[in-house]
Amino acid sequence: MERKCPNRCFLARSAVSKRVSSLAENPSRNTRRCEAAPAKLNLFLHVGGRLENGNHLLESLVVFADFGDKLRLTPSGTFALKHTGPFAKSLPRAAVNDLTACAVSGLSNIFSREPAFTLVLEKNIPVAAGLGGGSADAAAAIRLVCREWGVPHTGLDVRVLAERLGADVPMCLYGVPAWVAGVGERLTPLPQMPALDVLLVNPLQRLRTADVFAEFTATDCLDGGIENLPSFVASAAALSFLQGRQNHLTDVAGKLCPAIKKILDTLEQQNGCCLARMTGSGPTCFAIFEDEGACTRAARAIAAQYAGWWVQRTKTNQSTEWDPN
Ligand code: ATP
Repeated sequence: MERKCPNRCFLARSAVSKRVSSLAENPSRNTRRCEAAPAKLNLFLHVGGRLENGNHLLESLVVFADFGDKLRLTPSGTFALKHTGPFAKSLPRAAVNDLTACAVSGLSNIFSREPAFTLVLEKNIPVAAGLGGGSADAAAAIRLVCREWGVPHTGLDVRVLAERLGADVPMCLYGVPAWVAGVGERLTPLPQMPALDVLLVNPLQRLRTADVFAEFTATDCLDGGIENLPSFVASAAALSFLQGRQNHLTDVAGKLCPAIKKILDTLEQQNGCCLARMTGSGPTCFAIFEDEGACTRAARAIAAQYAGWWVQRTKTNQSTEWDPN
C-alpha cells in the first residue's frame, strides 16, 4: 500500500532520506539505541466485508519472525533517515512516503519534541511483500524513539498514531503472537504460541496491497471470535488449527502474480513441509516445517533451483511479554 505521512509539515523541515553503504559505528556499543523490526506473518488471513471507509474486516493469527529490519539511532543536530541493507533501494525516496519518518513525525507532534537524531534503517525485508516491513519499521521507530525520549509507547495518542500509519502497525508495535480482528486494531495475545520453523519465499516481484484488495470480493463470513481457539502449547495443535483455515487473498493475489502458485507448489513438495501458505496480500509465501533441519534443507534446495527467488529461513518468536498499558 502506498502510504502518505499524516504530517507533512515536520517532514518538510527534516532531512530527506539518504542511502548509506556502511555503518560507521560499532553496532554492539549501544544496543539501547538499536531496535529490531521483525517481519510479520499471517498464519491465516480471513477477510470479511468492506466498511464505509474502504477497510475490510479481518481475522488473522499473526506471529513475528526472528528475521527482519533493524533501526539504529544516533544523536545529531537535526533529524535524518538513512537507508542501508539489501532492499534499501526499493524504499520510497521521499520522506513523506516513508513510514519510519512518518512515525517520527507523529511522535514529534504528540510529545512536542524535536527529533535530534539520525535513524539508520537496515532494510532486510523485501518491500511490498506481505511481510509488513513498512509497518514493522514504523513500529520499531515508535519503540526506539519513545525509549530515547523516556516516554511510554503505550499511551492512547501513540496507539492512535500507530493505527493511522497502517492497519498492521498496532500489531507490530507489540510484536507478540496475537489473534487479530477488526481492521487490524483488535489484538488478543496468544501467550502459549509455540516457535515454528518457517521458510519464507518471495519471487522478488512487488505486489501492492491496494491492488489485491481492489480485485477482492468477500464471500466468506468471519468466525467472529476467539472462543474456540485451542491452546497452542504444541506445534501440532497450532498446525491442526491452521490447516482448517486459509488466506482468503491467495486466489486474487495469484492472478496478479502467477509466481505465487509456483512457490506454493514448490514449498509443498519439500520433505518435512507441514503447511504452505501465502502471508498478507502476498506475494511472499511461507512453509512451516516439522523441524529446523528439514527447513534448512528445503531452503538450500529451493535457493539452488530458483536463483531469482528470495529465500529466508527463520523461526517465529514465542510470546514474551504483553503490556499494551
Ligand atoms: P502491507 O500489507 O502492510 O501493505 P507489505 O509487506 O505488503 O505491507 P511493505 O513492505 O510494508 O508492504 O510496503 C508497502 C508500501 O509502503 C510500499 O509501497 C512502500 O513503498 C511503502 N513504504 C513506506 N515506508 C516503508 C518502509 N520503511 N519499508 C517498506 N515499505 C515502506
